[in-house]
Amino acid sequence: MALISRRDWGARAPRGPYTSLTHTKGVKVHYIGDHVDPRLLTDHDRCLAVMRQIQNHHMDGNGWTDFAYNLAVCPHGDLLMGRGAGHMSAANGPGRNHDHYAVLGMLGSTGLTDPTDAMLNGIRDAIDYLREHGGAGKEIKGHRDGYSTSCPGAALYAWVKAGAPRPDGGSSSPSTTWTETLVDQLPLLSPGATGRHVKTCFYLLRARGYGKELDEHVIDPTVYGPAVVAEVKRFQAEKGLDDDGLVGKATWPRLLGL
Ligand SMILES: [Zn+2]
Ligand SMILES: [Zn+2]
Repeated sequence: MALISRRDWGARAPRGPYTSLTHTKGVKVHYIGDHVDPRLLTDHDRCLAVMRQIQNHHMDGNGWTDFAYNLAVCPHGDLLMGRGAGHMSAANGPGRNHDHYAVLGMLGSTGLTDPTDAMLNGIRDAIDYLREHGGAGKEIKGHRDGYSTSCPGAALYAWVKAGAPRPDGGSSSPSTTWTETLVDQLPLLSPGATGRHVKTCFYLLRARGYGKELDEHVIDPTVYGPAVVAEVKRFQAEKGLDDDGLVGKATWPRLLGL
């Protein structure tokens, strides 16, 4: 699980103190609603921009202290810090924020409407985080439970009602996600590998801001040599991955920004 700090998504400081909570009955799941741009799927920077937009709307439009939710989860499964654990949200409706924390899934009522497996796992990670750090109880509910709203949308609500299972925890679903399908087509790169996928890796690394000092006229970008391996290891370490220098099922999606 990757936890993105407020600083890393460019959050504004809250306008005032939060109300503290030592425990809750559980967590309520939300969606954004309205239209969410499906291009979020291929561009994680857009996820961070959505956080800033929502925060501005909550603070400037609604006049709230801060971004309303405790945590948000993007389609890539990353957790984005909102009010955090131990603080009351402003998301569940008047009088309903003492009993449940609030987790936002970045989905709309049009556009991006279906959660990725990564997002569902991320929401479970967020719930675990709030249980561990915020005394959240075992309930997992939707915003619409006890409040008149379409939130969290048909797909997320059906998942909540099914007990919010982790997609990779069950054997009932044989289907793989599009991310897995894409990554399955990419080879495992170990040091010394050669070919076009090495070159792809090299330029993806560049696109992520790594290996900028490596000159492709000096090193051969189609050979996975020590200098590139070192940069991959640095990328892996900074992304919280095993820094083994192997580009496989864990590292490709991160290089691709999935
Ligand atoms: Zn909601
Ligand atoms: Zn994302």
